[in-house]
Amino acid sequence: MTNKDLANIIFPDITKTIEDYKNMYPARNLEEGAKVTRFAPSPTGFMHLGGFYQAIIDKVLAHNSKGIFYLRNEDTDQKREVKEAVELIMTTLNYYNVTPDEYEFNDEVIGNYGPYIQSKRKEIYHTFIKHLIEIDRAYPCFCKKEELDEMRTKQEKYKSRIGYYGRYAKCRNLSIDEKIEKIKNGEEYVIRFKSLGDNEKRFFFDDLVRGTLSLPENDQDIVIMKSNDKLPTYHFAHFVDDYLMHTTHVVRGEEWLPSVPVHIELFKAFDAKAPKYIHTPLIVKKEGNSVRKLSKRKDPEATMSYYEENGYPQEAVIESLMTIINSNYEEWHDKNPDKTYLDFTFSPKKMSATGGALYDMEKLNNISKNFISKLSAIEVYDRLSNWAKTYDKEFFELITKYKEYTINILNIEREQKKPRKDYENYKGIKPQIWYMYDELFDTKEKEYDFQNITDKDEIKLILNTYMEKYYDESDDKDTWFNKVKKLSEELGYASNMKEYKENPDNFKGNVADVSTVIRVVVTTSSMTPDLYEILKLLGKTRILKRINLI
Ligand code: GLU
Repeated sequence: MTNKDLANIIFPDITKTIEDYKNMYPARNLEEGAKVTRFAPSPTGFMHLGGFYQAIIDKVLAHNSKGIFYLRNEDTDQKREVKEAVELIMTTLNYYNVTPDEYEFNDEVIGNYGPYIQSKRKEIYHTFIKHLIEIDRAYPCFCKKEELDEMRTKQEKYKSRIGYYGRYAKCRNLSIDEKIEKIKNGEEYVIRFKSLGDNEKRFFFDDLVRGTLSLPENDQDIVIMKSNDKLPTYHFAHFVDDYLMHTTHVVRGEEWLPSVPVHIELFKAFDAKAPKYIHTPLIVKKEGNSVRKLSKRKDPEATMSYYEENGYPQEAVIESLMTIINSNYEEWHDKNPDKTYLDFTFSPKKMSATGGALYDMEKLNNISKNFISKLSAIEVYDRLSNWAKTYDKEFFELITKYKEYTINILNIEREQKKPRKDYENYKGIKPQIWYMYDELFDTKEKEYDFQNITDKDEIKLILNTYMEKYYDESDDKDTWFNKVKKLSEELGYASNMKEYKENPDNFKGNVADVSTVIRVVVTTSSMTPDLYEILKLLGKTRILKRINLI
């Protein structure tokens, strides 16, 4: 019996060869230097910020070089529910316009290098594994869990390296006939790669972020096919897919760095050129004086849905990630305010190789505030409405009913040289403008804080005098303000701040105190955008009604 016989016994139905697949997945027809990148998440039903940040790098690299960015779902861990998880990944990418050039979604396959879902590529993996068995570079391993555990305990006890290698690789030494017999007897097995490496030797590896690294050769006979579902492990599946799909650049988390020797050996075993690797630093956040990994469990901002739920503009989220992707991004963006992140030339060397990539919500909030402040009122309205449709139905109905009115509210101190920077996200808009809607104003428990003026009769006097003698809906802003000053003078408040500061005892207060009373009665808040605009939009009837409420 030969290894070929063994391979046929294990994979009787595999009739194709690796050559067939190489022909089916020919080199891509792209310009010189074009990069082929992929986002290859394992669908877990959860989209981590760290995954999304890798997808952005993939997209930028491909876009910069007129290449291809594709999505591959790595679902070989079948314990998980895949369908919704794949949907979540795709809808998240689409939501941010980080749509891949090639993907598979809802039975639609875009691109010639699919299937793009690993569980549908079983036959391909089997063909490659069959080949390895034929050339004596892979073998079935019948070791049971207990045996492996025992071996591990021994290795720990004698302080040997942990793993299945060298003299510990027991099944490596079974004869072909023994292997066949065990299979015929129905013994369970996995398939292991047969390493030819020597852990004492080192080789040079170029990581595009970290530069040239000296790594030990792999000598582990890693599992490449699991026993129960006969699906490959990540190590093997990623090799086959990146090879056939002609990936030029693999962007993945630094937790994969220790697996590089295995991966390089797999590529070598097939005489294939390995892609370039960009191992991205972990996303970390500050906690007190130290930094720690952004955690799915502890940090809501670790999940992409957080940004959608809170209504952060997609552009701001991407921008905040770009600033941690490349340290020079911000400067570039300041110089090129009209360009998008896709125009930026990403350089892996400018990623932080040690200490992680520091993510900061404060930074996102600032970027977002700036971004929203530069939108037109109609744009903010459309985005707000889109967000509210899903996340705040009641508010959605209100702003739909009063569309023009809402646009006017959103236009206060906007579309000018120095627009107001109030909103960090769409969710934060309602808490700042709710008082403009009677439906919300009338139903809310209100607390008024008139600040310096506390006497109820005095407050009433100010408001009544204002409405009776000075209020005129058609006044322009200057006239309006002059009238508030006159009102102040009439009631014994300073209209000139300088005079007030010089002789505070001569006055009951000043014009700011008086306008605060007007502001608070119509909004309940002493901090609002331009009062003149607010009064104008509210109109006389509503102002009177609100005065009567106190
Ligand atoms: N499926 C792997 C993961 O989710 C992807 C690693 C890679 O991009 O190669 O970690």
